Amino acid sequence: MTVHEDRIEALRERLELLDVQALVVAPGPDLRYLTGYDALPLERPTLLIIAREAAPAIVAPRLERARVEHEVLVADIGVHTYSEHDDALALAGRVIGAPEGSRIALGDQMWTLFTLGLQRALPGRRWSSASELLAPLRAVKDAEELARLAAVGRAIDGVHQRVPDVLRAGRTEREVARDLASMIREEHDQVSFVIVAAGPNSASPHHEPGERVIEHGDAVVVDIGGTLEGYCSDMTRTYAVGHAPDGYADAYAALIASQAAGVAAVRPGATTGDVDAAARDVLVAAGLGEAFVHRTGHGIGLETHEAPWILAGSDVVLEEGMTFSVEPGFYLEGRFGARIEDIVAVDRDGVVPLNVVDRGLVVV
Ligand code: ZN
Ligand code: ZN
Ligand code: ZN
Repeated sequence: MTVHEDRIEALRERLELLDVQALVVAPGPDLRYLTGYDALPLERPTLLIIAREAAPAIVAPRLERARVEHEVLVADIGVHTYSEHDDALALAGRVIGAPEGSRIALGDQMWTLFTLGLQRALPGRRWSSASELLAPLRAVKDAEELARLAAVGRAIDGVHQRVPDVLRAGRTEREVARDLASMIREEHDQVSFVIVAAGPNSASPHHEPGERVIEHGDAVVVDIGGTLEGYCSDMTRTYAVGHAPDGYADAYAALIASQAAGVAAVRPGATTGDVDAAARDVLVAAGLGEAFVHRTGHGIGLETHEAPWILAGSDVVLEEGMTFSVEPGFYLEGRFGARIEDIVAVDRDGVVPLNVVDRGLVVV
């Protein structure tokens, strides 16, 4: 069996376990995970249907048939195409065929237009979200996925090592971000995002790089990511231009300790809540608890943000093969902020970091 057929088999077991009659997913990461097909997200629906008592099927526009046949890596999948004047969602309803009263799970990112159309085509069914079926499967990576995440991790490590070449006083955040985007493109297939947050802007975790001119004495948060062979990178380092701002050194030292404590808590059997607490406790002890305004991390794979969530109080148990970020930060409005972010993988004995560039404040 191919890797995609194995995944569909594992999914079928979960359909039984959770008493779901059929799963329907639209173009996006779930479809890529289950079939390898990177379909266009069009107003013309492409829908993969995995029903408990039937072979896998895909409903697709007729004009996409060649791509479906070429890119879907699942043998004996039923391909149902429709023409421009056909009712695609009625066709999908017939292919799904779940009896009244049964439960159908829809992909979390399915357009409302398709959700409503399917609900019209199949009245009297119960509806739920696909993530309860798919998130636990997607969260545990196989050897090939781990190799791709390691490769894309090395790629973004390489970009961070070149940040000092382009980050300097007198340039705007946007100019630096543009240079970083081309550096990411050299090492990846696509750029996912570029955050360059200088001076007081570094206190906004998802700051959009703008016209602010970088000044001597600024702290600069650089959070960047791209995709390589479908898998994502996401990595943050914090830089200082000339020197760190006043009052920064102690807080930054606590952040290094916090991030290290979070990584050290990663092992099979620990919970995601344990990892969050390990990182958070260090910042709380340093008086920065209120300034750490987000969760400690998120899973990563086909999407930059996916399960598991490294969240306070969460009792999701870490398993070998899970990959996620450990990215504590502190954000003091009007003054400055900082974040350190690495991707890690859970292995049999503990943790494997997929980003290795030094975590100290880089003075440029
Ligand atoms: Zn100075
Ligand atoms: Zn990030
Ligand atoms: Zn992240």
